[in-house]
Amino acid sequence: MLVARRTTSPPNVGPVRTCVGCRGQAAKRELLRVTAGSGTDGQPAVLPDPRATAPGRGAHLHPTIECYDLAVRRKAFGRALRVSPGICTEPVGDYLSSRGRPR
Ligand SMILES: [Zn+2]
Repeated sequence: MLVARRTTSPPNVGPVRTCVGCRGQAAKRELLRVTAGSGTDGQPAVLPDPRATAPGRGAHLHPTIECYDLAVRRKAFGRALRVSPGICTEPVGDYLSSRGRPR
């Protein structure tokens, strides 16, 4: 006799977020969180937050250069993080290009 009904639903993707670049939805863990902070020069900058531990407002992005470029062109980081649209986003670009290799 088969018993033990488990309550785990199969598509266990967890929370879903919208990418600020392509505006597609994806599981939160597949997206890179970014936050507003200070760059190495002390200027306001958008910083990658791969461990999602930084306090404050965050935005989510597919960890690809394509979505990063889209977000930059749309000034989506500034809007999503409620900071100046001209904020420096290079730390995120650097992060992605140093890590981003097509699979
Ligand atoms: Zn995207």
